[in-house]
Amino acid sequence: MTFSTEQWRNHFESLVNNSDDFIALATPSGKMVYVNDAGKELVSLPDDLDISDTHLADFVTSHGTLAYSEEMDHIFAGENWKGTGWLRNWTNNKIFAVQATSIVLTDPISNEPVALATIRRDLREINAVKLESDRLRLHDPLTGLSGRSQFEKKLEESIARSIMNGRYASVLFVDVDRFHEINASLGHFVADGLLVQVANRLRNSAVGAQAISRFGGDEFLILMENLTDKKQASEIARRLIVAFDEPFVVEKNDVFVSVSIGVCFGNTNASQMIVLADQAVYQAKSRGRARFEIIEATLGSQVADDHVSKYRELHLAIDRGELFTLFQPIVRLTDKKIVAAEALVRWMRPNHGIVPPLEFIHLAESTGLISRIGELVLKSACALIKTLNDQGVSLRIAINVSQLQLVDPNFALMVTNELIRYEVSPGQLTLEVTESVAMDDIETIGRTIAQLKEAGTLISIDDFGTGYSSVRTLRHLPFDTLKIDREFVSAVDELGNDYAVVRAIIAMANALGLSIVAEGVETSDQQDSLVQLGCPYAQGFLYSHPISEGELVAILTFDDLDNIEQSPGFL
Ligand code: C2E
Ligand code: MG
Ligand code: MG
Repeated sequence: MTFSTEQWRNHFESLVNNSDDFIALATPSGKMVYVNDAGKELVSLPDDLDISDTHLADFVTSHGTLAYSEEMDHIFAGENWKGTGWLRNWTNNKIFAVQATSIVLTDPISNEPVALATIRRDLREINAVKLESDRLRLHDPLTGLSGRSQFEKKLEESIARSIMNGRYASVLFVDVDRFHEINASLGHFVADGLLVQVANRLRNSAVGAQAISRFGGDEFLILMENLTDKKQASEIARRLIVAFDEPFVVEKNDVFVSVSIGVCFGNTNASQMIVLADQAVYQAKSRGRARFEIIEATLGSQVADDHVSKYRELHLAIDRGELFTLFQPIVRLTDKKIVAAEALVRWMRPNHGIVPPLEFIHLAESTGLISRIGELVLKSACALIKTLNDQGVSLRIAINVSQLQLVDPNFALMVTNELIRYEVSPGQLTLEVTESVAMDDIETIGRTIAQLKEAGTLISIDDFGTGYSSVRTLRHLPFDTLKIDREFVSAVDELGNDYAVVRAIIAMANALGLSIVAEGVETSDQQDSLVQLGCPYAQGFLYSHPISEGELVAILTFDDLDNIEQSPGFL
């Protein structure tokens, strides 16, 4: 009996679909064409995903592994490959080991590749893989650098040695600037290659490093030992930053990549030094890119102790009501009238004075405390709106929301409940989302933003220009306002690059129908340029520092509103 082509096809398809293995076909360049049912289930492929938009590399790796690149290298060179490979789960992004057979299917006449096929068997149940995954835990398969646990071990040894020798150890936490952007524009596959190059450059530049490890996606840790003072650590960080002035060559193009570095200098315990270095890099990034920040942490030192107690204290501070909110006016540039205000949290820390948010928001985010802080700020914003409404003044208040809040499925509901409780109209509340966050987990965050919009609140994109959003994403998310980051505003008066940048941002925002607020206006020269460029709203020390609720109410209910600029409390 013979089968028709159609019958053959059907039989093969049911054969393939009845297999428990992941079976897929791709074009010779890796564009996915087909994944069998078991395969889709194995990698939790979303139903609505069009697989023709995906690449084989998206499936067989998360962030690249040696096995992955080895496998890819072979099959893209037209050679079949067999070995321990990887599959990536699309829902949780975790990779798991598989026994992989990848075949290059060729045209029988021309012998040219016509398709790539891969059959992958889940090996998670099989004990033999344990050995391999132990190896991978110790070494990062993409870059060949040591992994986190090895790094910590070496760091502990270094600290012990340093204490004995009267020297110091130092942890440099290196974070690639705008890596998300690179990843989005080049694709995972190419971005992985770039990370390998970054790792190599660190290896070559961090002369004398005791250990270099890959900490996470685009984060690297460098251990230096035998240092005599803090200056030496700064010098190393400075040299590393300079080492990145030289571009990388990616697919024959020059790609400029910078790094930000957090340095923890001193001898405390290993995990604390890493946490402090992480904090330092966060500070470095918040002050701009391609910078470093250094935190000193010798055993029993003020800074290290400070960090730990701050961590504990922040929990208590919230309960004790030590957090409070200031409000910074936003003015209309045509007449300098206050049209809105931004709520900015502060911590009145006993015996320390007022702690600015940049010093504890990161901590709050990493411990989940940010949700409670966000709720407090929301409540004080609503309370202020209500107080003003009761006095016949209608003001819009903006609050900052962080990523953790936006991925919380109950966040929009919580906001709505508070608005109802305070009898505040949703249109009087703006939620500010910083640009980098908005682009992070666009699906989940987009959902929350859509719910908030539906509830009637306004959404702002904050710190615009520091992230990596595309015009498409801006159009995709229903923003109402764009806030131009202070970094650009500060140089808008110099008629240099930033003048053109701000002009371009304004033109784009206008084209997208977004309102615009310039942040951090400090001088009247900056203000003049902004007016010239047609920027409608501004916020900054030129008009007012963040002030208390009482002060703001006093200003707004002051009889002669036109005189606000001269009002003494209103700098
Ligand atoms: P942001 O949302 O961009 O807030 C504006 C920051 O710029 C504020 O710093 C403000 O005091 C400062 N600023 C305003 N005008 C000027 C100026 O003319 N010159 C200069 N040099 N600075 C100016 P602040 O209050 O220290 O807040 C820093 C950041 O902390 C905020 O940046 C925001 O991202 C975050 N943050 C503040 N409050 C909250 C909050 O309640 N929740 C969350 N998630 N983040 C918050
Ligand atoms: Mg803001
Ligand atoms: Mg901002």
